[in-house]
Amino acid sequence: MARYTGSVCRQCRREGAKLFLKGDRCFTDKCAIAKRHTPPGMHGQGRRKQSEYGIQLREKQKVRRAYGILESQFRKYYDIASNMRGVTGENMLSLIERRLDNVAYRLNFGDSRPMARQMVTHGHVSVNGKKVDIASYQVNVGDVISIREKSRDIEFFKTLKEQGASRTIPKWLEFDADTLNGKVVALPARDDIDLTIEEHLIVEYYSR
Ligand code: SF4
Repeated sequence: MARYTGSVCRQCRREGAKLFLKGDRCFTDKCAIAKRHTPPGMHGQGRRKQSEYGIQLREKQKVRRAYGILESQFRKYYDIASNMRGVTGENMLSLIERRLDNVAYRLNFGDSRPMARQMVTHGHVSVNGKKVDIASYQVNVGDVISIREKSRDIEFFKTLKEQGASRTIPKWLEFDADTLNGKVVALPARDDIDLTIEEHLIVEYYSR
């Protein structure tokens, strides 16, 4: 399946929630969800009550879209999580949160997850001193995530160095604005996830 290339705000309207895909704009009254809180399309306003299946599907799609993950990969996270010890839904969210593109976003290397993903795939990010351009790369405790030396002249990173992180860094990560280095100090826990998610609905969706 191809990656979605349409309007990102349309995805938020479809899920009825802010997915924060457009950086600063998401926090202004230009946000499409703030202006029109109905699903997109001709019949958006007239949609009927959702079935149990529909509610589970929407929750799964919301998380998948927020993190920019294709269905087959998302399903793999569920499969891995269900074979791990502990609570499947929490394991799944922790695996997703440990993706390098998300870590780059959480370290403020991009204004949004799509932008941070681009920073990774365009080769601006290194892990433990080596270039890693795979968005789904899983970070581990002790990993050092940095902006590569040759990318530090990009205006966005110069501003980050001068002004520091504009969003709060979660407690499982550390960030040093002077060196543009981030470090994984723990694995992400359930309360480190910054989106409102009912992961039990996703588990129910896949275990049908
Ligand atoms: Fe668009 Fe961001 Fe608002 Fe979503 S949260 S509708 S991406 S502006």
